[in-house]
Amino acid sequence: MIRFHNTLGGRTEDFVPMEPGRVRLYACGPTVYDFPHIGNWRANVFEDLLKRFLIYRGFQVVHVQNITDVDDKTIKGARARGLSLDDYTRPYIEAFFAERDALNIRPADHYPRATGHIPEMVGIVKALLDKGFAYRKDGSIYFAIDRFPAYGRLSRVNLEDRRPGSRGDADEYEKESVHDFALWKAPKADEPVWETEIGPGRPGWHIECSAMSAKYLGPSFDIHCGGVDNIFPHHENEIAQSEAANGVKFVNYWLHCHHLVVDGQKMAKSKGNFYRLADILARGYDPLDVRVLLLSTHYRKMLNFTFEALDQAVTARRRIGDFLGELGAVPAGAAGDAAVGPLVEAARAGFVAGLEDDLNIAEALAALFTLIKSVNPLLVEGRVSRAGADVLAAFVEEADAVLGFKPSPTHKASGRIDARSEVMGTAEVLKAEDQARIDERQRARAAKDFARSDAIRRELLERGIILEDTKDGVRWKRVAPQKP
Ligand SMILES: [Zn+2]
Repeated sequence: MIRFHNTLGGRTEDFVPMEPGRVRLYACGPTVYDFPHIGNWRANVFEDLLKRFLIYRGFQVVHVQNITDVDDKTIKGARARGLSLDDYTRPYIEAFFAERDALNIRPADHYPRATGHIPEMVGIVKALLDKGFAYRKDGSIYFAIDRFPAYGRLSRVNLEDRRPGSRGDADEYEKESVHDFALWKAPKADEPVWETEIGPGRPGWHIECSAMSAKYLGPSFDIHCGGVDNIFPHHENEIAQSEAANGVKFVNYWLHCHHLVVDGQKMAKSKGNFYRLADILARGYDPLDVRVLLLSTHYRKMLNFTFEALDQAVTARRRIGDFLGELGAVPAGAAGDAAVGPLVEAARAGFVAGLEDDLNIAEALAALFTLIKSVNPLLVEGRVSRAGADVLAAFVEEADAVLGFKPSPTHKASGRIDARSEVMGTAEVLKAEDQARIDERQRARAAKDFARSDAIRRELLERGIILEDTKDGVRWKRVAPQKP
């Protein structure tokens, strides 16, 4: 029996899908206001393990992941660059898909974009108004959390010290400020506006996932995933909107992936420990090494990214590849007295039991590596028959259908993964500290702090990097370092 830890209720429960043999899975997708970083990929890789394991256990999985291409952050970014939302978000969406493929993550069945689902969002807001769960104020529409008694059950927020009737417009806010949240935001001069039957405006972030999950999975579905930072307010608000509008339980199992930290610290550009996939590949690693590292820590534990841990991932992946190579080298017709059948059966049992236990990846990998360790000496001694080698190789492939550590047809480790070079117009990659300075200058420019942005430009020129601002963003070139 598969068991998952359900954030709703805080217990590990047997997994029983609503429809036998079929699992409907929704994962909150990227907000495409910037390139993804490795922390973003952790939740995606975990969701891929979950999906592959369900498929391995014989379920048909319908997987939906949204793309948030309109929210506070994308609007702010597009405005700062003077671009349409579409032009602003496009390179980030492309980078997301390219990096997904490089990390051997199986594509979802649907990638709905928020801007393509405004009528569905309006439909839910209208239902919430009609049923008395929402109210209008100054051109915006808010969800009244007092009208929904189950509010707070997922995140266990403290509802006692909130001020009655307090409300907020921001998409993101802290647990300490529980309040009525915006479903639909009044038009502002510098924001995109949709003319709709509930009035002009644009959606709040939370309503987007309620609308897109219902459209592709129905009002009730099996599993909703995301990072722990999505639990409040995002997922709490999704439950409130969906259940109040539809009158049925929204989701049965909520699975949340913990944070990634780098060298024990939160990733931040200012600390110089901020990594995109491209930064790691520039150091000579394979994207699949990154996948191994992201998967090797249980999803509900904090993952500490270090280059030592990445080197261990390289070794682990090489051991699997070397083992398959040795098995392939067993000559045709080779006889051997080793009974590999029971070893494979034990490995399979351990692998499955581990993953059935809330995706206990450490136990599953231990089963695989124990097998490799016990068979390697038999191979050296020539005791594995050709038929035995086939049985062993078939099991490794079987396990890899879940793990995805070997390149597969959807895995394209092409040059496209370097999102940075795509934007910069060069195949060369900058050092993380130089990139951090460029990003800082972009923020200074966006804030119209031109003295600061010019100072950073001069500083980079002294280090031999010249910047050019184009309509596609900033480009850089290497030149001889220039004295001030
Ligand atoms: Zn979401």
